[in-house]
Amino acid sequence: MIQVNATNRRRDDYMQETSRPINGDGAMPLSFKTGSKRSLPVPAPEGLPDARRFKLTSVEDYASLIGGEAVERLLEKAERLRDIHVVNINSTYYGGGVAELLSSLTLLMNASGIRTGWRVIQGRPDFFSITKKMHNALQGGDIELTDLKVQIYEEVAYENAARLHIDHDVVVVHDPQPLPLIRHFRKKAPWVWRCHVDLSNPHPQVWDYIAPMVERYDAVVLSLPEYAQKLDTPQRFIMPAINPFSTTNKELSEAEINDRFEHHKIPTDLPLVVQISRFDKWKDPQGVIDAFQIARRQIDCTLVLVGNVATDDPEGQEVFASICSQAEDRIRILSVQDSALVNALQRRAAVVVQKSIREGFGLTVTEAMWKGAAVVGGNVGGIKHQIEHGVNGYLVNSVDETAACIVALLKDRKMRDRMGHHARESVRKRFLMTRLMEEWLDLIGSFEARFQLRGAGQH
Ligand code: UDP
Repeated sequence: MIQVNATNRRRDDYMQETSRPINGDGAMPLSFKTGSKRSLPVPAPEGLPDARRFKLTSVEDYASLIGGEAVERLLEKAERLRDIHVVNINSTYYGGGVAELLSSLTLLMNASGIRTGWRVIQGRPDFFSITKKMHNALQGGDIELTDLKVQIYEEVAYENAARLHIDHDVVVVHDPQPLPLIRHFRKKAPWVWRCHVDLSNPHPQVWDYIAPMVERYDAVVLSLPEYAQKLDTPQRFIMPAINPFSTTNKELSEAEINDRFEHHKIPTDLPLVVQISRFDKWKDPQGVIDAFQIARRQIDCTLVLVGNVATDDPEGQEVFASICSQAEDRIRILSVQDSALVNALQRRAAVVVQKSIREGFGLTVTEAMWKGAAVVGGNVGGIKHQIEHGVNGYLVNSVDETAACIVALLKDRKMRDRMGHHARESVRKRFLMTRLMEEWLDLIGSFEARFQLRGAGQH
């Protein structure tokens, strides 16, 4: 499968050699083996030995949230793609929005009969240091893209290609870390690059470097239309979504919430202002502390900053260290991975802040809104698409605006409740995992197989 020296070949060459008949009906969308009854090479979820003890969340579980008609429609679409084998490839199992999305979406797809895998590439610390710099540069930061950095980046991708053994019907590659993998495979199926970062202003040198690799893909999926780039490859826009049944989002009892607060020794005697984010400069934790310092002069409250450090984000430790000295009784800064704590904090907070300076989408905003929290979010990227200013939260452009909105919300419980109510409803309508899955099924189902004789069109 791996073609080591194939990096210079054009996409069309691959397609001519390797596209294969997929389905017999006229337009030939990529709806593999419709209605196939063939048994799966891996046990179907209901065939797992522990199926009675453990149950995957299924589309039907969403019925009370999205309605029976939507459930039926989604199940029909899933049935048309039944038994296809999809693989997702990213660079961490936990610690950020992509991992959070993949853990839920891949299970929902499997529960719907679509065999969907998830692979994680491995890399040395220098590789992740380079890819984090590239990530920052794609969001508009600076970088010196030296030959050595390019060499390490490409070498690690090649090493991963050697042990990935990809032979799937659809390959979805997430973000820049595994992007070059495509150069080392002879394509037999559509490859999709799913980029989650805020691409509104990418660093030109980095974009020029990655664009030829991006153009080897058959489709590019971005979170928002404003991230579109000049590319020959078709671009589609799909916003992320949350799983309301995950540990991060499911209903919690008061006792469960209290337990998390006691465990982490977080005081609850004053109203809580909370930001939950990887420790990352784009999330502006210092700006949150500065806004809190202004707000607390007008109203007593406690700030809780919770963050985790993803394995593919080597800068996290540094950012955490840079703010740690400001911790005190009323400014709690915790570096932990505890999804139930995230859930409890979003439920108990008087105000949830997400003061990002760049934000591809911002699942922490969606998660907090789902819990009926009033959210103060940076007026950037995906946050702008989630918060309607003054209706279901506030959008802010500076530390002072953040402080003013925190104070306004802390002083007015009714307004918080009203905004929180609208917030939850907008997530129910727009940002649940079933909507995300449906958009992926539509995309996968709209690839067409090509039957072209080699040499056709050359006379
Ligand atoms: N998250 C978490 N613990 C933390 C910080 C974040 O579990 O301490 C989760 C958070 O609940 C969300 C994801 O990580 O699901 C972050 O996604 P988002 O899109 O907000 O930002 P990203 O990290 O992808 O930039």
